[in-house]
Order: sequence, then C-alpha cells, then structure tokens
Amino acid sequence: MLGSGSRGNAILVDGSAGSVLIDAGFGVRTLAKRFDAAQRNPGDVGALLLTHEHVDHACGAAAACDRWSWPVHASAATLAAVNVQASGAPGIVAVLSPQGATSVCGFTVDHFPLPHDATDCRAFVLTDEGSGARVGIVLDAGHVPNGLAGFLERLDLLVLESNHDVEMLANGPYPWPLKQRVGGGEGHLSNEAAAGLAAAVSHRGLRSVVLAHLSETNNTPELAMSTARSALRKAGWKRDSVMAALQRLPLSPVQADGSVGRPASTQLALGL
Ligand SMILES: [Zn+2]
Ligand SMILES: [Zn+2]
Repeated sequence: MLGSGSRGNAILVDGSAGSVLIDAGFGVRTLAKRFDAAQRNPGDVGALLLTHEHVDHACGAAAACDRWSWPVHASAATLAAVNVQASGAPGIVAVLSPQGATSVCGFTVDHFPLPHDATDCRAFVLTDEGSGARVGIVLDAGHVPNGLAGFLERLDLLVLESNHDVEMLANGPYPWPLKQRVGGGEGHLSNEAAAGLAAAVSHRGLRSVVLAHLSETNNTPELAMSTARSALRKAGWKRDSVMAALQRLPLSPVQADGSVGRPASTQLALGL
C-alpha cells in the first residue's frame, strides 16, 4: 500500500513473474517519492491497472505511463474517461475483457463492477499464476452489491475500502450534499458495510485484511479495524491480521501468508 485515501491511492502487488500497480492517484513526483520510501523502483512495475477515473485513483496515470512506460489496463469506459491515450504513447493501453479474465504480468486479473459515481468502477481479484495466491482489491463502492462476496472467494489477502464511521459522518463537518454523496449508495463503504463483506468472504485460507481509503475526517484507523475485527471474529475467523493503510506513508508489505515485512523471496506482496 503506497498510500490510500481520498487524496490518492496506489497499491503495488508483487507476484512470481512480475509486479503491477493498482491505481496511480498521486502525481509523478509524489509517486516517485512513495516508491523511494518503499525502497522500490517504478521500473519494476510491469503494468498499471486502474479501478476508475477519479483523480484520487488516476491523476498520475498518463504522466506516470509516459515516464516509466507502463502499459495501462482498465475497462473501456474508464480508459475513455481517463484519456491515457492523450499521453502520446501509442500501444500502451489495453482494455480489460468485459467478460472473463485477462492475463497481466503473470497474474490472472478478474474484475467486477462496483456501485460508485464513476463511469465504470471495478473491483479486482489478482491470482498469481505461479503460486495460485489470490488478492482481492475493493476500493470505492457505495454499497456491497449482489455477487461481490462470491467474486471474492478463496482469497489469501483482501484489500477493502473502509471509508467512514456512519455516526462520525453524520455528526461531522462535511456539508449536507457531501454527506449524502459519501454515505449514499454510489459513494463510499462504511466501516460496518466493509466489516460485513470481510466477514462474508472470510475462510480459513484468508490470511490478512487491509482496510483502505479511510476518511481522515470521518473515521479513525482504530475504529475501522475494531469494527472489522469484531465482525470477522463473529464469523469464526481465527486470525487477527487486520490493518489499515495510511494516506501519507507506505505500509510495510503484507505477504501472501499474512506475515508483514520485506519479502524473503519473490512472493505475492502488497506495497512495502
Ligand atoms: Zn477514491
Ligand atoms: Zn472514486
């Protein structure tokens, strides 16, 4: 997790055969600094996958792809909305197949539509074709749609938006229209909704849950994590690896076995 929140999102996923970046919601200078802080090199990234076109997910996409020659993979509607082709680098854009999976840098990439006020927001499941390890990534979503829990089956790692506490949002400083947007069906996931989804997809093989896109105004990491932990415990999940991504700093990498720290070898790992 190079950073996550309403001021920018970028998630680095390392696999057996390569690395992909999910979203480039920081400018190129900030992205370069985040790679630096994580002791990683943007040149290691084999492709950029975009969830949707909002600035906190895609503002750096065109410039970063120009600078580091990353090919971009996204739905046709997201690509049109981001207009990465305007970067002038032909042949670097690939449309995710509307049906079925696409192979990207040694990952099988499956995607699922999310209810959000963007043209075509997508959740991803990346399956490492070498190890079979699976990570699910669910960022901006106004609610949990039918079928999403099934899409997220058999995950090793889950990255999940846990945007706001419902009461903090209701009693907080946001103007009424913004409260309605964030808390609405096409806005952002509350802690409770995220916890419910995490519990629904939990199983013995789920190693770790990383909460993402936390509001700095209407949430706290402690509240998000305790809500998720208690739902997971009630669902019978025996592990305790729930963490919250930060807006300003990269997280330590989470390995496919749930351990946290630098990878001992090239295994599936999230960020650094
Ligand atoms: Zn966002
Ligand atoms: Zn968004």
